[in-house]
Amino acid sequence: MADPKGFLTTDREVAKTRPVTERVKDWNEVYVPGSLLPIISKQAGRCMDCGIPFCHNGCPLGNLIPEWNDYAYRGDWREASERLHATNNFPEFTGRLCPAPCESACVLGINQPPVTIKNVEVTIIDKAWDAGDVTPQPPERLSGKTVAVIGSGPAGLAAAQQLTRAGHTVAVYERADRIGGLLRYGIPEFKMEKRHINRRIEQMRAEGTKFRTETEIGRDIDAAKLRKRYDAVVIAAGATTSRDLPVPGRELNGIHFAMEYLPLANKVQEGDLTTSPISAAGKHVVVIGGGDTGADCVGTAHRQGAASVTQLEIMPKPGEERTAGQPWPTFPMLYKVTSAHEEGGERLYSVSTTHFEGDEDGNVQWLHLIEVEFKDGKLEQKPGTERKIPAQLVTLAMGFTGTDQKNGLVEQFGLELDERGNIARDADFATNVPGVFVAGDAGRGQSLIVWAIAEGRSAARGVDRYLAGTSELPAPIRPTDRALTV
Ligand SMILES: Cc1cc2nc3c(=O)[nH]c(=O)nc-3n(C[C@H](O)[C@H](O)[C@H](O)COP(=O)(O)OP(=O)(O)OC[C@H]3O[C@@H](n4cnc5c(N)ncnc54)[C@H](O)[C@@H]3O)c2cc1C
Ligand code: SF4
Repeated sequence: MADPKGFLTTDREVAKTRPVTERVKDWNEVYVPGSLLPIISKQAGRCMDCGIPFCHNGCPLGNLIPEWNDYAYRGDWREASERLHATNNFPEFTGRLCPAPCESACVLGINQPPVTIKNVEVTIIDKAWDAGDVTPQPPERLSGKTVAVIGSGPAGLAAAQQLTRAGHTVAVYERADRIGGLLRYGIPEFKMEKRHINRRIEQMRAEGTKFRTETEIGRDIDAAKLRKRYDAVVIAAGATTSRDLPVPGRELNGIHFAMEYLPLANKVQEGDLTTSPISAAGKHVVVIGGGDTGADCVGTAHRQGAASVTQLEIMPKPGEERTAGQPWPTFPMLYKVTSAHEEGGERLYSVSTTHFEGDEDGNVQWLHLIEVEFKDGKLEQKPGTERKIPAQLVTLAMGFTGTDQKNGLVEQFGLELDERGNIARDADFATNVPGVFVAGDAGRGQSLIVWAIAEGRSAARGVDRYLAGTSELPAPIRPTDRALTV
């Protein structure tokens, strides 16, 4: 156990963010660099090394949290990093971006603020990179088997790294011009600087994983050819079909899916564009959808110099405390103030968009909304509450409906879908097509990075077993696991 009295003597402290006035002028991560270093060992010392560490169950990866808390408390950063990597291929992604279901499940959280698990995680991995402890781990011998991974988001990357290290020859196919999936082109730079992805790719290349960008399976290479060329295929194509809002005026200029808006801002940061063709500069911006994607649009619009930013959510405002229906150790749906919300803008709850109004040139100018309420379990409009708000740029961030089927991927492979429209798989992450597996949002539906990595790791075990008859690779989750967490 780290510090037997740590949880009694030390209050929870988290990473400090830079002042809002400073950070909205740049795109760097919002945190004060190095602010965790002086406090983190004491924070790790708050861990009680519980007999039943509920944090393990909260985390889909089954991270060995009390073990690395102990090493971090003692300042043994190399050992801490080794324990961290035992269950997680990319802790620098989860340490920055995860909503930390492990902290919601932390036993200390029953009557105190939980251990700052996520901040300990990111400190361990950042120190490991700085110390040169994150090195390539190429396989000792090759199996002679080949695997194609379709999609380079966290699920595809985790599967590829596991399978490469197991000795298989792996190629990752990505339709975009860069590797990373939503980590690269969805999540903005101010939440995670892309240099963190780049150095992982370098590590993976050095281990032997091959990357093929700007190659869309189904369009540039058909499924039959891919199956012929490889012994196994992992589909990690994400759930990238955006949910639309089919109301009058939807066709006006200036109304875009979040995933049309955010990638362009990321491309400016990559140096591909000088300014974004869809910019919030000087405009009244309305973001429809109250989740993470919406918050990323809010933070992006602030940085582009929006005149105002309003975020709409159809559901009521969540509470700030757990309710009886969301007891510890579940992941509760609480009112969240993200870094983007700290930076300004207004949030409206229990409202629904009825239509958009434009000018004579076909550009959106107003969004008409009405208040809604739940009655007998159904969402109903409240008569007399209609109003309009200025809207010169609207982003639709209302979630995703499943994997992209326009490129023929699902049809060409002959894949069965489940009742939610995701690619169906068995307990080994195998689809109905022999040798074809599925991992991440493509099989689970829209989810989280931590689940995507856990899916990639688990599917890799299924593939390894299929190719080699047996596997030493870990499988942290089953396809149906949803317990405790989001
Ligand atoms: C804006 C936004 C912000 C988010 N923020 C967070 C967050 O803060 N924390 C968090 O935990 N989660 C967040 N998420 C969710 C998280 O990013 C996803 O759950 C996760 O990236 C899913 O990983 P994946 O590997 O399954 O798919 P993806 O990351 O979607 O990657 C799939 C990849 O497959 C490629 N592809 C698709 N079809 C083909 C094809 N036919 N051929 C070749 N390539 C193909 C796509 O181009 C894409 O690069 C966010 C999501 C969005 C949209
Ligand atoms: S549940 Fe919390 S206090 Fe207990 S071992 Fe996990 S991190 Fe430490």
